[in-house]
This record gives sequence, structure tokens and C-alpha cells, in this order.
Amino acid sequence: MSRFIFITGGVVSSLGKGIASASLGAILQARGLSINMIKLDPYINVDPGTMSPFQHGEVFVTDDGAETDLDLGHYERFAAIKSSQSSNYTAGRIYERVIAKERRGEYLGATVQVIPHITDEIKSSVLNSTNDADIVLVEIGGTVGDIESLPFMESIRQLGVELGHDKALFIHLTLVPYIPAAGEIKTKPTQHSVKELRTIGIQPDILLCRADRPIPDDERKKIALFTNVDLDSVISAVDVDHIYKIPRELHERGLDDIVVKKFGLDLPPADLSDWDEVVESLEHPQHTVSIGFVGKYIEHTDAYKSLNEALVHAGIHTHTQVNVVKIDSDLIEDEGTDMLKDLDAILVPGGFGSRGVEGKIMAANFARTHKVPYLGICLGMQVAVIEYARNVLGLDKAHSSEFNPKTPDPVIALITEWKNIDGSIEKRDEHSDLGGSMRLGAQTCKLVPGTKAQKAYEGAEQIHERHRHRFEFNNNYLDALQNAGLVISGVSLDNELVEIIELSDHPWFIACQFHPEFTSQPREGHPLFNSYVRAALAHQQDKH
Ligand code: GLN
Repeated sequence: MSRFIFITGGVVSSLGKGIASASLGAILQARGLSINMIKLDPYINVDPGTMSPFQHGEVFVTDDGAETDLDLGHYERFAAIKSSQSSNYTAGRIYERVIAKERRGEYLGATVQVIPHITDEIKSSVLNSTNDADIVLVEIGGTVGDIESLPFMESIRQLGVELGHDKALFIHLTLVPYIPAAGEIKTKPTQHSVKELRTIGIQPDILLCRADRPIPDDERKKIALFTNVDLDSVISAVDVDHIYKIPRELHERGLDDIVVKKFGLDLPPADLSDWDEVVESLEHPQHTVSIGFVGKYIEHTDAYKSLNEALVHAGIHTHTQVNVVKIDSDLIEDEGTDMLKDLDAILVPGGFGSRGVEGKIMAANFARTHKVPYLGICLGMQVAVIEYARNVLGLDKAHSSEFNPKTPDPVIALITEWKNIDGSIEKRDEHSDLGGSMRLGAQTCKLVPGTKAQKAYEGAEQIHERHRHRFEFNNNYLDALQNAGLVISGVSLDNELVEIIELSDHPWFIACQFHPEFTSQPREGHPLFNSYVRAALAHQQDKH
């Protein structure tokens, strides 16, 4: 049976609970344990799919098409696991299930209450999502003391009792601030946060104390005394300059040893050599490139979390420091493409809504005509197709029907019917549910032999990449665009959908309908991003 580690947060939000949990997953894996990770989110949205990236950061898409919290991206990148629909439960999803059961009469007329019905649903969701892993890490979103997280806290409290001490551990992440005016480290917020947790009935076994400097022993003793936690288990989680240093850092502070000891396991020491290689490469780049990132949510760094990470990973695997130059596509519309001229490569990421689209089309045009390496992702492919149709094929009014429903030439359009991997037929139209009308999750793409895309994917014949979009390349324009020189380098398994386009008379212009960033990992890197960064380096050399 699996053992469980429940991770809560206190004092303030944004302490990096997701990354700390994922890093713990990574070091337990490095000791030979199989792990699984689950995120419980106390908000009422049924899934994060319709939440604004400004507020909530990116929507991370799993292989099986769940639109989830961005923390699942950290789990996949650090712990090399594949998350799924059963890796993320929000309060909304739990309530939805309980209400559906009540409507079906499954509670036999009982009064349906938070305790036991909601808590039972949370507990069974967790217990049914273990994937038979040795260790299941369960992260609870939010901060202790939030009203909405209470049913989740109560559920993990009950699970702790039911599973017993050798099967369940509680880790609490807090902040230990340094107050410059007093020249002192303050432990009081941590004491209060643990007090709050104990009021709910949860006694943490381990405290991870985020701090900007190592916490002196006297302060750790004070925290241990007031919180009833072993001194050894009060751990300073000191700020580091790069997230991929955290597995090594937490290991050096003894975190995996404490967990292994508390669970009574006998395991070989952690082998973190692959993480050390990642850090070594990050710290000693041999080259630098500047990539223009032409987007709409550029101020909000979390809105493109996986994509930014994928570029870092490509840097790790090409010994290159990748500097991302954020360019607001609105600004290109107002001021023109001059601001793109010193870049080594251009990237247009995914996006929704018409604001800034013309600027993105201008960026694709600039990259094509100036032979600057271009990577288009999802919307970034769609704008490249629109640009080609307008300026090479001469269809001046070509557009996506998402942005101009009346365009005479909808080169990107809504496909109203398509076949899922399981053979089922799905239908959608403009009125479909926002969350329910998208092509979502991993699908197979066949790479066309001899294309640049196939070369970038190291000669693979088929790849599996994740989708999240509503609109598609309109096949009514396929022949015309191909005759005008556009190369189709990847198609869906049934040949019905265009998945990748490229240009033959250009050093590196590849755009894909899927999101390769979701499958990029620091230790392996991703072939498409590696190839793109190499193309940026080559372009930089050509310029000199
Ligand atoms: N808005 C476009 C669509 O829905 C692109 C989506 C995306 O880039 N993820 O098809």
C-alpha cells in the first residue's frame, strides 16, 4: 500500500509549495521509490481551464486532456511523472460529484453535509488516485486558515488518523522572515501558522521554513519547541537562484533521510547526479541567445510557465543561456517590427482573444521575410498560416474565424466534428461550453519524411504532443497554400488535421498546432526546443 505525504502551506501564499513538493518527489525518486503527486485546490472552479492566466498562471494540460493547475507542470518536470485527470481535484469538482450523487439518490435521502459527504469524496478521490506508487505526495493549495480549504484540511486530518503514523506524514511550509530594521529572524509567523494547523487537528511532522538565509540553531530550537516538531525536522529552505538547485538543496538539509526514517524504510542513498548535471550546465553556459517572445500576457511570468521552462531546458542541453526578450504584440502593431531586428529568433506562443493578433502576424511576417528562426506554437502556427495566406497567396483578408467570423477566407476555422483517440466522434460549435469545446490532450502526429520538423525531432516518425485549442488549419486552403510553397510537415494520425507547418526556403521556420512545452523536462530537454535554440545560435553567427 502507498504511503502518503500531505503538504500544506502557511503564513503567506507563493512560497513555492508546488516546487518544494515536486523537489521532494524528485529526491524520493532518486532513492528508488516510485512516486505519484496530487494537487487539491480549494477554489470552486471545476477546473482551472477557464481561469485567467493573468490571475492564475498557465493552464497545464495533461496527456489525457485535463486542464489543470500549473503546479502539475512542476510535478512532471521535477519528478518525471505523467499526471492525469486524477492528479488535480478542485473544491468545485468535488462538490460537482457530490451533488450529482445526491441527484441520483445515492445518499438515500440523508442530509448531505460537508462532513462526512464532501470529506469522504475528497478522501476517496485521494485514495483512488495513488497509481500504486510507493509514495503519494498530496499538496493542498492555499494557506492554512483560509475558509475554503477547511474541508480539505479536515479530510487529510482524517486520512492521517485512518492511515496511521507509519503511512502518513504531514509537511508544513512556512516563511521565516528576516527583519532588516531589527537585524533579526522572526519565528512568530511560523509558530502561529502551526498553531492554526494544530487547531484543525494536524500536527506537522516536518517544517520546511522558507528563509533568505540559513536559520540559526537557536531559532530552529525555538520553532521546534513551540510547534512540537523534532529539531531535526525543522528545515531551513533557503532561497536559491535557480529552481533546479532545490532537489540538491533539500537533500543536503536531510529532507529525504527524515522522510525515509519516519516511514521506517531502508533505502540506498539518493543519486542526484542528473540534477547536478542540469545545474552544472545552467551555471556554465558557453553561448547566449536572445529570443523575442511575442505575446499578450508577457508581464505575468507564470502565464507561460511551461514555455519559459522549455526554453531553459533547451539552454541546458545546448549549453546556452537563453535570454527571453518579452515583446508586447500590441506594441508591434503601434510601432512596427523594428524592435525585432536584433533578435536571434522569434517565438509566438499560444493565446486566446483578438487583442494583439495583428502584431503577432507582423512578427511572423518579419521572421519569414528576414529569415529569422521562428517557432510558432498553437496560435503562433495559426498566425503564421494567416500571414502566408495574406502575403504569399495574396488573400488580403485571410484570417481565423475566431478573430473575424466574417472573413471571406477563414484559413483557420472551427472544425465542427472530429474523432477522438478512442474513436468516439466529438462535435462542437461556437456555442459549446467554454471548457468543453477544445481539442485537448496528447494526440499522435505523423511527421512527414525529409522535413525540417522531422529532423528537429531527431528522425522520429510519430510524436505525441498535447493540444489545447478550438480552431484548426482549414483544409479547404490546403492545396492553395501548398502550391504557394507552404510545407506541411506533420499531420494527425487520420491525415485530417494539419499539425505542423514549415518553410523550405528558410533556415528554421516551424510552427505547430500543439504545445510541445508541456512535455519538456530539464533532464531530457525537448528535441524541438533544442533544435530551435541551435537555429538561433546559427542565425547569430551568420549575422556576424
Ligand atoms: N485561440 C486559438 C484556438 O483556440 C489558439 C489556442 C492556443 O494557442 N492555445 O484555436
